[in-house]
Amino acid sequence: MRAWHVDAPGPLSGRPLRLRDDEPPRPGPGELLLRVLACGVCRTDLHVAEGDLPPHLPGVTPGHEVVGEVAALGEGAAGFAVGDRAGAAWLRWTDGTCRYCGRGAENLCPGSRYTGWDANGGYAEYLTVPAGYAYRLPAGYSDLELAPLLCAGIIGYHALKRAELPPGGRLGLYGFGGSAHLAAQVALAQGATVHVLTRGEQAQRLARDLGAASVGGAADMPPEPLDAAILFAPAGELVPPAMAALDRGGTLAIAGIYLSDIPPLNYERHLFQERQIRSVTSNTRADGREFLDFAAGHKLAVTVHRYPLDRADQALADLKAGRFDGAAVLAA
Ligand SMILES: [Zn+2]
Ligand SMILES: [Zn+2]
Repeated sequence: MRAWHVDAPGPLSGRPLRLRDDEPPRPGPGELLLRVLACGVCRTDLHVAEGDLPPHLPGVTPGHEVVGEVAALGEGAAGFAVGDRAGAAWLRWTDGTCRYCGRGAENLCPGSRYTGWDANGGYAEYLTVPAGYAYRLPAGYSDLELAPLLCAGIIGYHALKRAELPPGGRLGLYGFGGSAHLAAQVALAQGATVHVLTRGEQAQRLARDLGAASVGGAADMPPEPLDAAILFAPAGELVPPAMAALDRGGTLAIAGIYLSDIPPLNYERHLFQERQIRSVTSNTRADGREFLDFAAGHKLAVTVHRYPLDRADQALADLKAGRFDGAAVLAA
C-alpha cells in the first residue's frame, strides 16, 4: 500500500514527508483494520511534519481524521463488522486507570496515544485503530464531508464547551479554518451571535456565507464585547487582542495543540473583571460521540477540498499558506 512517512521532521520546503510502498498493517488484538476512504488534513499534521511537535514514532504516517471501511478485525475486536464505515480520530488510546481517566477526563491521560503521532495514521491506504476508540459515523454525509468532523469538528466542539458561551451569547472566532467553520455552525445553531476575526479573503467570505454577524481582520476589535472567544490560529500574538475584546467574565479558549509564544499581558487591559484564558487539550470519546450525534441531527455544511493521496505534501503546503477555505481531505 502507499503510505506517507515523516522521515525527517522539518520545514516543508525540505520535503520532510516521503511516499513509500509498505505492507498493509495487521490488526492486533482488539483492533480494526480500516481501508482508508478519506483522510482529513489537520494543522496538527503540519506540526508533526515540521517538528513543532516532538517526534513520537520515527517515520510516522500522519493523519487522524480517517473515514474507513472495516476490512478485518483483530482478535477480540468488538462493536464493528467487516464492511462497516468507521472513523479513526486523534485520541487512539488511554490507560483507563489514571486519576484523569477515573474522573472522566481521559483527554488529560498522561499515557494517552495519538493517531498519526504515536501510531501510523491515515495518509495511507490502510491503518489500524483500537475498536474501542473508533467512531460510528452519522448518515447523510459523504466520506469527504465526514473526515473533517473527526478532528476539526470534535475539537471545535470541545473548544466551544471550554469557552462556556452563555445561551444566546456573543462568540468571537479567531482564525477561520476547518475547525472554526464547523464550530461556528454549532454555535449559530445554538443561538449565538458569531463574530469572525481572520486574515484571508476566502476564509472571510466563507464566514459571511455561514452567517457570521461580522467579519474582521485577524487582530481587529469586534463590533461588540464578546462573552466568549476561541483562538484557532496558532498565533500567540492574537491572545492579547482576543482578551481585550472579552466582556466582563468572558472566557478565551485556545483550541490548538501548538501556539507560538504569548506576548506579555497587562492585568487591567487583558484579565481583570474575571476574564479567563483556557487551553483545550484533545478530547474525550464522550466529546466525540456528543459532537457526531449533534452532526447527525444538524446537517453541517462541510467545505472540503479534495486532494489525491499522492498530493498530501501539496495539501499541507496549501494549508500552511492558507490557500483554501474549509478543510483539505485526501482521497484515493
Ligand atoms: Zn489515563
Ligand atoms: Zn487534528
